This record gives sequence, C-alpha cells and structure tokens, in this order.
Amino acid sequence: MMEGEKAVQSARMTKLCACAAIGLAALSVLGAQAPKRAIALAVTGGTVVTENATRQILSPGAVAIDGTDVVEVAPPEAIAAKYQARETIDARGQVVLPGLINTHTHAPMVMYRGLADDLALRDWLQKYIFPAEAKTVSPEMVRVGTRLAALEMIESGTTTFADMYYFEEEIARAAFGAGLRGVLGQTIIQFPVADAKTPAEGLARAERFIQEFKDNGLVVPAVAPHALYTNDKASLAASAELGRKYGVPVLIHIAETEDEVRVAREQYNMSPVAALESIGFWGPKTLGAHGIWVSDEDIATLKRHDVGIAHNPESNMKLASGTAPVVKYLAAGVALGLGTDGAASNNDLDMFEAMRQAAFLAKLATKDPTALSARAALDLATIGGARALGMERLIGSIEAGKRADLITVSMAAARQTPLYDPISQIVYTTRGDDVRTTMVNGKVLMKDRQVRTLNRATVIVDANALAAKVRDAVR
Ligand SMILES: [Zn+2]
Repeated sequence: MMEGEKAVQSARMTKLCACAAIGLAALSVLGAQAPKRAIALAVTGGTVVTENATRQILSPGAVAIDGTDVVEVAPPEAIAAKYQARETIDARGQVVLPGLINTHTHAPMVMYRGLADDLALRDWLQKYIFPAEAKTVSPEMVRVGTRLAALEMIESGTTTFADMYYFEEEIARAAFGAGLRGVLGQTIIQFPVADAKTPAEGLARAERFIQEFKDNGLVVPAVAPHALYTNDKASLAASAELGRKYGVPVLIHIAETEDEVRVAREQYNMSPVAALESIGFWGPKTLGAHGIWVSDEDIATLKRHDVGIAHNPESNMKLASGTAPVVKYLAAGVALGLGTDGAASNNDLDMFEAMRQAAFLAKLATKDPTALSARAALDLATIGGARALGMERLIGSIEAGKRADLITVSMAAARQTPLYDPISQIVYTTRGDDVRTTMVNGKVLMKDRQVRTLNRATVIVDANALAAKVRDAVR
C-alpha cells in the first residue's frame, strides 16, 4: 500500500470511529512521512475524459505527467497528496481530452486551400491539384506548408497526424520541430512527381526516409502508395514489401470513388479492396483512407487482414465521393479512425468539425439518428484513430503508462452553455478554437492558446509569401 493510500484510509477510519482528534493527528504524522514524488507536470481540476476501456470520466480529475508519460489519473486531491509537480496547468472549467488523432491528411496541401473548390475529384485532381503540384511542390513549399498545418493542428487540438505526401522528410523535420507526433508516408506514384521521376525512385527515397527516421520518438516513417488507380501492380507490391521489410505502416487511398471501382474492374476484374488483397497488399500495418465503395465482403476482407480505415466525412461530402459505411465497419470490428484529408478538400484540419460531420453524415446516410452517437464520434477521433494506426498501446486515451498526448478545451463559450453532458458539447458545439492547451509526449506545445514551438507570425507570413508563387503557377 502506498503512503498516500494509508493516509486516505486513515482519514476514512477517522470518520468511522469519530475519534477526530486522534485521527487527524495520525493523518498529519502519516502525511509528513510520505515524501511526494517529483513530477514534471500536473493538469488539474478539469473534467478528464479518459477514453480508457471503461470510458471513465473524472469530474473533477487530474493527470500526473512525468517525462513522456502519463503517471496517474485520479481526483485532484489524490494527485496533490502524492506528487509535487514542477508545472501545474489549471484546467478548472475545461475538459481534458486525449489529443485528437487525424488519421488522414496531406499536411502541405494547406497551401492549396481554397485554390480550386466545387469540382469532381477527377477534375479537381487532374486539372488543378496535380498541375499545381507539378509546378510548386518543392522542399521549401513542403516545409512552409507543413509548418502552417502544424500550427493549425496544434491550435485545434490534434496531436498525431497520418500523412501522405512528397518530400516527406521535410514534413518529418517540420512536424518534429513543432513537437507533433506523425505517421508520415512517403508517396509512391506511377507518374513523374516533384521528388521522384519513377516509382522506383520513390521507393528508394521512401527507404532512405525510413532508415533516417525509424528510431525517432515522434515520427513513425511509412510508405504511401497513392492509390490503386495511380500505381501499377508492381509498385503496389513493392510498396507493401518495403513496409514489411522495415515493419513500418503502409498508407493508401482505397475505394474513394465509383470511378476507382470501375478502373479496378477493368484492370483486375475485382473490387479495389479485393484487387489489393490479390497481390498480397493488406496486412495489420496497412491503413486505407476513405473505404467508401466497399461491399460486405470487402469489409470482411479488411477485418480479416486487420486493416485500419480512415474515415474522412468532410472531404467525402465536399467532393461528393460517397459515404463510407461507418456503421457496418464498426459492427464488423474494423479499426476505424477519423481524418480531415488535405485542406484543399475540406478546407481545414479541425478534428472537432470532423467529429461533428462524421456523426451527422452517418445519421443522414442511414436515416437513423442513433447510428453514430457523440460518444462514438469522439471514440473515432481518439482511441479509434490510435487503433487504426496500430498505436493504441501508446496513444488514444489518457492512462498511466501511455504517452502524455492530451489537450484541454474551454467550455465557456455561449454556444457551449449550459453544460449538461461534456461529450455532447465536445462533439456538437465545440470548435478547434476552444482548445487551450496542447501537449505531446509530455511537452506543452500550446498553453493558453500561445503556441510555444512555432513562431505564429513567421509561419503565416511565410505561407502568404509562398501563396503568391502558387497563384502565379496556376494562372
Ligand atoms: Zn487523401
């Protein structure tokens, strides 16, 4: 039994025997004997939504943090009795949540935000995005874009993001510098792109990238073949093989549009999911983004291979790609996370909005308002995303032994008043702007909305300067 527990038990006995004076004396003696453990940080007084296995909520609660990890989650008085924190974050009036996990994005595409909207995916990609990328993607663009994306993610409570883009080593450096956790995939694509003339070059670049970052504490390097319809069989198989060789994740867009289904039928005489299964692509470290046009059999295939799926309701609605069968995925036990997709098809990286839209879209699509509850939507953005990325032992909930990735969220806005149910408020009325504190790996990246790891003004100025070049390129 710990000293602190003895003290608490002693206090209880005091009440039982009503020997107040003797009891208090015993308590003070025990209290004096119990040395407090020094820790780096305590977040105390807020409503702690743990997202642990029992979905425990402590109101009020406190989180003891030391080094990179959560040490203990308990009522504030229990944490205060046991620990001496060097820094304390007062979270009274706020909700403390696990950091949000964006399972699908293309961080530098914030530079194409609002450049071309209101188009079908094929036109949008082939007439605007691919040409703009051909002229403007460079290490500098990726660096500047990722810093802007990192600023937006930190300010809106995202602590982990899964990314697929070019010059992924620049994204890794920028994300690491900003203190964000990332599963970052180097793109493999059949046609010549800014960082590789051929898929073979892309694969070689991906391998160097994996070797450089495989032991990084925040960056998980990954291989990202763009999609079934933009890669031939050989590059898809080689991408999966490279992932297996190093035991790193493999990220791909899958079954995003009906057009993709048609192409898979023509080339493989199969569905997109079955086509990738036929070449041995799927495995427990693979993550498919979208997964909209899937049959029940495809869902069973994804479950059998333990594939994670990133659901992107806003991008899917904006590009009218279709509606992922979220309820079927959850019923089948598929590891389902939530993503924003790139900012050019969303047009922001706010995971609170993604939660809300995921809930609304599932309800509308099934004509059933109980289809995806606020609780289920929050699960997707936290522990669900961690499972989809195969990282649930490290992140996705606030629990002792897991990495200290968490956020505090203000509940004081008019639109959040009155507060009956914090889960309802988080999903249905809260916005990224309400986040006050963002912490990753025990490090505070933002406190009281002041970002510590990026110079906000410089990031915005650099992005606007680069936007002038993007504008010229597509003129
Ligand atoms: Zn995407």
